[in-house]
Amino acid sequence: MSEKLRIAVLGAGRMGCGIAQVFCAADHRVFLYDIDSRSLERAPETIRGYCQLLEMDPSVSQNLRCKSDLEATIADADVVIEAVPERLELKREIFAYLDVSTSRRAILATNTSAIPIAEIAANLKTPDRVLGMHFWNPPHLVPLVEVVQASQTRPDVVERAMALLASAGMSPVHVRRDIPGFIGNRLQHALKREAIALVATGVCDALTLDRVVKEGFGARLAVLGPLEQSDLVGLDLTLAIHETLMPDLDCTREPHPYLRAKVADGKLGIKAGVGFRSWTTQEAAATQARLDQHLAQTARQRLREKQTNHQSRNPG
Ligand code: NAD
Repeated sequence: MSEKLRIAVLGAGRMGCGIAQVFCAADHRVFLYDIDSRSLERAPETIRGYCQLLEMDPSVSQNLRCKSDLEATIADADVVIEAVPERLELKREIFAYLDVSTSRRAILATNTSAIPIAEIAANLKTPDRVLGMHFWNPPHLVPLVEVVQASQTRPDVVERAMALLASAGMSPVHVRRDIPGFIGNRLQHALKREAIALVATGVCDALTLDRVVKEGFGARLAVLGPLEQSDLVGLDLTLAIHETLMPDLDCTREPHPYLRAKVADGKLGIKAGVGFRSWTTQEAAATQARLDQHLAQTARQRLREKQTNHQSRNPG
């Protein structure tokens, strides 16, 4: 997509800044809005930092305009992406305003992690242009975006959103049904359900569980999806394993009591120094640094490969 679009991003937090960086780097005009002036003040520096991490010219941040006025942010927007906190009432309020205050041709997207799009778009006059654009954290380093089509979303709106994301270097996938958690979070939390149950029932501790994932099947997950892996080993073997395993897997239909008890005790994870395990400040910092470094290295590699492919297709 060579056309320079006006993209409004609502919420300059963790996700909003990353989303803004993606579209600045793709040379669109990005208007970033937040109700909190400090978040807005920090955003340009944050976005320049993301560019440096990706070894990208930080001058792409010149495409960014930070706005404290919502009306000015969305005026003439081609696409609005909402990235405010995960509260249904807040998102509904924002979409009710966007519904009547944006141009009818604008795409209205929410970055909700799990709320069905139809719940956010309930009672709008123009739900046909509302969809989910579920970026993963952090958007400037993780390429996948789930484009979620609700029952009222027009197919051409989905197509335009997919084309925009692909042209910005992202990897969009079309989620054809508007179900809670879409695809990625359903998979991620199905794994967490079993992980929590294994720890709660004393099969292993949290450290061991994470080692099993990282050093076992997780080591191949970035290059081999679970269904590819089943095809690789054979569906007959997969079926044989399921015959034994399925009756035994955890199928608690609500948050596990073990998780509820942790939260009730204030054991909220790294921010509290203890969650499923205890954390020193150094361990917490090292874990964050390890993640950032891994994601940044992979993202830089991806950008280099794209540039090489582009140069070989367009020699001279
Ligand atoms: P965040 O708390 O980092 O940022 C939210 C920002 O929204 C804050 O800067 C806040 O000041 C601002 N805000 C609050 N009310 C507002 C309003 N009325 N108008 C404009 N701005 C407002 O949150 P986040 O992690 O960036 O999450 C944002 C959305 O993205 C949520 O729906 C979340 O579920 C989703 N999401 C988060 C992740 C993640 O891992 N953090 C991943 C994917 C999707």
